[in-house]
Amino acid sequence: MHNSHSVSSKQKPPQRLSPIIVVLNQVSVTTARQLMTALPGSQLYGLVGRTTDVDVSFTNFGDTVRQLYRDGVPMIGLCAAGILIRTLAPLLTDSKTEPPVVAVAADGSAVVPLLGGITGVNDLAEKIAAVLNVQPAITTTGKLQFNTVLPDPPTGYRLANPEHLKTFIADLIAGTSVSLDGEAPWLMASNIPFGANGRRTISVTTQAILGSSDQLVYHPTSLVLSIERPSQFTMTEWIEVMIDRLATAHLALAAVACIAIPKTPAGAAIAGIGAGLNLPMRLIEPEQLSNDLNDLTVINSDENLTIFSDTEPIDPNSIGQAQGKLTVVGTGPGSKQWMSPEVRATILAATDLVGYHTYLDLVKDLSTGKECHGSDNRVELDRSRLALDLAASGKNVVVVSSGDPGIFAMAAAVLEVLDQEAKPEWQTIDLQIAPGISAMQAAAAAIGAPLGHDFCAISLSDILKPWEIVADRIASAAQADFAIAFYNPISSHRSWQLTAAKEILMKSRSSTTPVILARNLGRSGQDVQVITLGELVPESADMRTVILIGSSQTRVIPRADGSSFVYTPRSYQ
Ligand code: SAH
Repeated sequence: MHNSHSVSSKQKPPQRLSPIIVVLNQVSVTTARQLMTALPGSQLYGLVGRTTDVDVSFTNFGDTVRQLYRDGVPMIGLCAAGILIRTLAPLLTDSKTEPPVVAVAADGSAVVPLLGGITGVNDLAEKIAAVLNVQPAITTTGKLQFNTVLPDPPTGYRLANPEHLKTFIADLIAGTSVSLDGEAPWLMASNIPFGANGRRTISVTTQAILGSSDQLVYHPTSLVLSIERPSQFTMTEWIEVMIDRLATAHLALAAVACIAIPKTPAGAAIAGIGAGLNLPMRLIEPEQLSNDLNDLTVINSDENLTIFSDTEPIDPNSIGQAQGKLTVVGTGPGSKQWMSPEVRATILAATDLVGYHTYLDLVKDLSTGKECHGSDNRVELDRSRLALDLAASGKNVVVVSSGDPGIFAMAAAVLEVLDQEAKPEWQTIDLQIAPGISAMQAAAAAIGAPLGHDFCAISLSDILKPWEIVADRIASAAQADFAIAFYNPISSHRSWQLTAAKEILMKSRSSTTPVILARNLGRSGQDVQVITLGELVPESADMRTVILIGSSQTRVIPRADGSSFVYTPRSYQ
């Protein structure tokens, strides 16, 4: 698990996400719902106050559309093309990575693919136009003339020499003759006028040919590399072995559909090869190995590595399963600006979201097309087991916590189940934790710097530990003069603990010690107050409050507007 960390977090394979439809008025909602029938997993975003019955309401059109674009989400705007263009204009730099963007007239009478010519916008536009029974306004020359887009071959084919495309297509449009060498149904179905002895060639081959401006080379992904004894080499050595063996056989790396490894801990330990070579990894149950690959032909084999091939492209999904991924993320205490970009991207890439209902609701706008497994707050271990099992079956699972996932939250619960129950298949999961801003940090920032010197965090909940331990810790922290963050200060079932905690604190800390009550941080109803320890009563807090208790050094500075800053100096005078 550890090995794969640096590799897998660096290089993420591009995801084809489900589209999001953005509407500005209620008339468009009907049209949008019609489109959604043909777009599985899609979600409807509507302008707040102007639309009802949408999946996600937004307030700022520009910010929403730009964020979706940055996230790489295919987008359909039921609005004027000009609005979309103007909104996205500052971001338009790389046509190879941009998501498809389509403008559709609010009444569904016109469909205009705007951006994403090589990421599938024409296909998306055609799908939408078919539902609306209109002709899409496709403007891509190659697509129009040859009914195919040479830069964006269908799944199962990879272009070896994109650098020669421009000249090649320009020659074709100018009427230069072209031959097809090899087989590809999508090329044969196109309008490209193939003949014998053309001056240009399109080759379809697994052979490692470089191509030129006279020869476009497409590699069908019809090879599988199978590793039977993964522990033989390290990950880096395996990468060298594979590149070497392909070179010896004159085969192109781009013709490899996937790498098959046994679904064992040793197999999972080298699963990072996939990210290293930008190829999908498939995990096969050891006893299934011959079953899953027996339709294929062995073309090259030794004791380390077998190269299989088929007569047509292989769908990696037909072999074994993907390596499961489980990321425990923290979304921050409340609003979206406190969610890290890593967490946002991880949630977007997930297939399954697991978490407490309330936390899943907070990320609803990122959950388009995903399975959401919501559960009650108190079933952390069941939830962890579910998440691990889903991941072991090959899903990309995200467990959603609020704040930081490692602070009184799900990361420890997942590791606890992994440790205690130790199912062998869980060892094949790529497990990661993605940090978030914890409630105490947000509370501290809202009021100044009360945690500026040594501090500790204590949960006042005695559900998972006996009160005597909590009481001992509070006493020790108070004696050691730590500033203290109290999490879970109170709940409907527990109200006496806060009073008991105060009594312990008062034994070694003055009743004038500053105390910060921070409620609903980053959410509507955020409220941050400064009181003294003497004033602290159970009614001061609820389960959405984090309480910061100052040390003997913590100071309050009044501000001109009547409010105050609270800070703890970094040194003792
Ligand atoms: N993982 C979370 C803590 C979960 S424990 C984190 O790192 O913040 C739940 C407790 O966290 C609550 O009882 C409350 O004390 C605190 N908390 C969580 N979110 C909060 C918020 N938005 N405002 C104030 N306190 C919050």
